[in-house]
Amino acid sequence: MPEPLRLSTDDRAVLDVLIVGAGQAGLALGHHLASRNASFLLLDAGPEVGHSWRDRWHSLRLFSPAEYDALPGMPFPAPTGDYHPSKDDVADYLQAYTQRFRLRCG
Ligand SMILES: Cc1cc2nc3c(=O)[nH]c(=O)nc-3n(C[C@H](O)[C@H](O)[C@H](O)COP(=O)(O)OP(=O)(O)OC[C@H]3O[C@@H](n4cnc5c(N)ncnc54)[C@H](O)[C@@H]3O)c2cc1C
Repeated sequence: MPEPLRLSTDDRAVLDVLIVGAGQAGLALGHHLASRNASFLLLDAGPEVGHSWRDRWHSLRLFSPAEYDALPGMPFPAPTGDYHPSKDDVADYLQAYTQRFRLRCG
């Protein structure tokens, strides 16, 4: 269970948006908000970004090839062609995406 997030007085004063859920949708929204210099925070009930993919069954692969699996602003790091990412590829990608765009998650 993650530690409860405690918002500072500064956070309460300056946040424009609180995003609940740091899955694909929340991270993509965070990317767009960051590009507009909005002040936001991503909140997720899970222990880490990508947890919902990490916890899926071992043999799971996306039905969509890697070249179609990217979120805005960052290609999915996989060979072109018919590579179907594993569930851990997706979890790793979501974590790398969070770090690359310095998306603040709690
Ligand atoms: C088995 C399986 C296989 C799939 N395969 C594919 C595929 O091959 N290709 C494809 O494009 N899509 C696939 N999908 C669909 C894809 O996973 C979803 O479309 C996508 O994850 C939706 O993204 P999301 O950000 O809306 O939700 P999610 O990825 O589900 O993220 C939601 C996040 O919100 C958090 N959350 C939920 N409720 C709360 C709360 N109350 N407070 C705080 N945090 C909360 C969760 O912890 C989670 O991290 C698959 C789905 C499943 C289940």
